[in-house]
Amino acid sequence: MKSCGSCQYQGIQYADQLKMKQKSVEELLGGFCKVEPIIGMKDPRFYRNKVHHVIAKDRRGNILNGFYEERSHNVVSVSECMLEDKKSQEIIATIAGLTKSFKIFIYNEDNGSGLLRHVLVRKGFSTGEIMVVLVCASPIFPSKNNFVKELRRQHPEITTVVLNINDKDTSMVLGERNITLYGPGFIKDTLCGMTFKISPSSFYQINPVQTEKLYGKAIEYAGLTGKETVIDAYCGIGTIGLAASAKAGKVIGVELNNDAVKDARINTRENKVTNAEFYQGDAGAFMTKMAERGEKADIVIMDPPRSGSTEVFIEAVNVLNPEKVVYVSCNPETQARDLKYFATKGYRVRKIQPVDMFPFTAHCETVVLMSK
Ligand code: SAH
Repeated sequence: MKSCGSCQYQGIQYADQLKMKQKSVEELLGGFCKVEPIIGMKDPRFYRNKVHHVIAKDRRGNILNGFYEERSHNVVSVSECMLEDKKSQEIIATIAGLTKSFKIFIYNEDNGSGLLRHVLVRKGFSTGEIMVVLVCASPIFPSKNNFVKELRRQHPEITTVVLNINDKDTSMVLGERNITLYGPGFIKDTLCGMTFKISPSSFYQINPVQTEKLYGKAIEYAGLTGKETVIDAYCGIGTIGLAASAKAGKVIGVELNNDAVKDARINTRENKVTNAEFYQGDAGAFMTKMAERGEKADIVIMDPPRSGSTEVFIEAVNVLNPEKVVYVSCNPETQARDLKYFATKGYRVRKIQPVDMFPFTAHCETVVLMSK
């Protein structure tokens, strides 16, 4: 069987997967402090609320939907994946099937011809709302109204359809422009008792069941009493900061992606939170400015992308001098590097909690508590 390479732990018992992740986090971070036992899932299947397939044509002209093979641009057809939401997979298969009758040309990576490149489906697991994003090389989608009508006839659960324009020769999935073809152009989901608006380009955790456990741990580690100023750095649509806001004096969030910041501000209003503010910018530059202005923070919660944080960010944290730093990471390797740098500023690791956000893959999420 050809493999897409995403399920590195396919065929390994779930209990053994957890043991392997525990061991790998212990190897990377165990030198800093004892590692708590990993928090796993009860049912580790179909957990992904975001399904993304590339659409391609094989040599015989058949339309495929699936993934790129690891470290290559060969597309492996995926008809059934045990990680992804089932309904979302069905929707993508329908779209691939409709391309023929609607004469929609499939994008060709080699010469840049054709239209449809990728399909992204996001589902709010608690609301049931479903967003379909058709990533196309051009904004001109033939008979788009009829296409959407037929898609919705087959899948009435779809609540919004967005056309995303990506005309660049790039490995990035999404382009910058979104055109809403049907519905509001976003979905909502609930997490930790709050409702969140999610736009096509905004980051949103892909495993909502484990996300609640992850955020719960991060907020527990912050040890809030109701008075603290909390920074939510790399905040996305504001989920962690807003979930913590009821227990904090004030929340300040910073995020690079402007669409996500807009979502965070709307999420603040919609959840009637009055003590949270969100800013667009590079987290390191933002923190440096805060430090220069002589501002203070009691707690810094940070959740950077896989590449980790930066020395500039960590230096600014040191000047802001929070009592605690809670570092949420999806990549313990870059986290280990950053923890070493934090240690040079006098921050010691007090707790380490791994959380399995990505069953059947080698990835592992961790929450680390530090204080001086
Ligand atoms: N805490 C959020 C998002 C975590 S993902 C959640 O749990 O949903 C990491 C986020 O960091 C992404 O939203 C990404 O857009 C943002 N990001 C990446 N580089 C950044 C930078 N230099 N400064 C601020 N935010 C950044």
